[in-house]
Amino acid sequence: MSEAMQQVHSNNSASDQRQYDVVVVGGGLGGLYALHRLRGLGFTVRVFEAGSGVGGTWFWNRYPGARCDVESMEYSYSFSNELQQEWKWPERYGTQPEILRYINHVADRFDLRHDIELNTRVVSAVFDPETGRWSVETDQGETVSAQFCVMASGNLSTPRVPSFAGLETFTGKWYHTGLWPHEGVDFSGKTVAVIGTGSSGVQMIPLIAAQADHLTVFQRTANFSLPARNAPLDPGRERQHKEHYEERRIAALDTPFGIAGFPAPTQSALAVSDAERQVAYEAKWAEGGSISFLYSYTDLLLNKASNDTASEFVRQKIRSIVGDPSVANILAPRDHPIGTKRLCLDTNYYETYNRNNVFLVDVKADPIQEITATGLRTQSRDYGPFDAIVFATGFDAMTGALREIDIRVQGGAVLTEQWDAGPRTYLGLMVAGFPNMFVITGPGSPSVKTQMILAIEQHTDWIADCLTHLRKRGDGRIEAAPHAQDAWVQHVNEVADSTLYPLANSWYVGANVPGKPRVFMPYVGGFAGYKQKCDAVAANDYEGFNISR
Ligand code: NAP
Repeated sequence: MSEAMQQVHSNNSASDQRQYDVVVVGGGLGGLYALHRLRGLGFTVRVFEAGSGVGGTWFWNRYPGARCDVESMEYSYSFSNELQQEWKWPERYGTQPEILRYINHVADRFDLRHDIELNTRVVSAVFDPETGRWSVETDQGETVSAQFCVMASGNLSTPRVPSFAGLETFTGKWYHTGLWPHEGVDFSGKTVAVIGTGSSGVQMIPLIAAQADHLTVFQRTANFSLPARNAPLDPGRERQHKEHYEERRIAALDTPFGIAGFPAPTQSALAVSDAERQVAYEAKWAEGGSISFLYSYTDLLLNKASNDTASEFVRQKIRSIVGDPSVANILAPRDHPIGTKRLCLDTNYYETYNRNNVFLVDVKADPIQEITATGLRTQSRDYGPFDAIVFATGFDAMTGALREIDIRVQGGAVLTEQWDAGPRTYLGLMVAGFPNMFVITGPGSPSVKTQMILAIEQHTDWIADCLTHLRKRGDGRIEAAPHAQDAWVQHVNEVADSTLYPLANSWYVGANVPGKPRVFMPYVGGFAGYKQKCDAVAANDYEGFNISR
């Protein structure tokens, strides 16, 4: 092609591009609500979703036992009272299939599907400062143009298989919890290895143990887990919840984690006697759930000595459940305060280690060296043969999905470079240097430390109000000011440093991904205060943002 023809060709391509007001990246809970909300305001919106169905996290994580650890009456959209009144959750905690069914119901009920492109992964997003528009390229070879980009790409959506040598030589089957085959996996009669004991591993291990011939669990960090006490949803409780649904949702906005119904604690764990604490922890253990347990006292996540009381209570429980003291000893966490890694909820997790077809290996003491043709090798010995290895090894959390997209400004900032030393955002909503790009529940916002759907709704509503404000004023461009971002990042760090969270090697600090900068990513100052800050910023003419035509 001649240079002149090339010029004509590329001009044509640009003008042929489909044009939208907003491109939304991701068709999970965040992307669907963003589509519904923004389309309802008259914006043209296109959603790109890599999966062959909607649902995000709940589309991909189909491993046995996958279930939400926030109660189902809470873990659902609040934007439509009709929706929350009509939907019936069968159990206290929703299973993955139930939640996915709910999300599909939402997609149909609000007629969302025709604006969603499935099987389409966004590979790059480039902002042109001259036109003030984003060019969004997909793996289907198409580039579309949008004035605004909304990244709803998820916090736990980049599955991570550790780079063990030899994985390609393994002759059995291997799986990752976050990429589970849709047809399911039958482990009957099989010898199985599970690597990883975070929330996914803890949910899955009891079910695989019950089905497989033999299960070997490879544990690096012992995790705290509490009983979920799942059960069919009590009809009386459901009725009562639904009678007050709207008030409860409003009340949830005024809580630290976006869930109403937990009376705020009033005293330090150290202000009461050992006997009184024991009674309180026993009651929470019997009731099930993690928030109420961590909310027993004011300072369980602030004061190490207070936290020790709760940590020791759970260690005692582990010792009382697990028959073999040496196994109980491996399972009892000692290297982090309870709650500073995501606290797991389980059904029969510790009990599973009393089965005679389950074997626990401590790979902190004896690290995995490589995967072999038939199993795996630790520093001291070979394990196997295994028919299957399941990686419950987690995700490149909070930044992984955004870093996988080539996000840049023509002739300017590149997101991966800007975030080289860890993510920096203003309110977790925007990144300085990247105009008209919003992140739903981005790093620096409460996100994973709250009821995620409420956090998604709060961010989306804020973005919707912001776009309406720009439209009213005839402005077309908004960008976080660097000084406001610097101050927010400093605040996020200060708040984290005033808690016990940074003491743990968690995915909150990126510790599970070798080489990832150690930065505490979520905002742990509480949902209520965070929302007030976002509202105040908007009311104050979008303080800390630069707005222009
Ligand atoms: P995770 O919490 O990051 O756990 C990954 C596990 O794999 C950890 O035990 C980790 O050990 C281990 N691991 C990683 N690399 C390893 C290696 N090279 N060698 C040996 N072990 C290794 O991941 P997840 O369990 O998938 O959960 C991620 C998050 O998703 C949760 O924290 C939660 O927020 C969410 N989730 C929620 C639910 C629910 O609602 N019930 C269920 C599943 C997931 P280390 O701890 O030593 O790194």
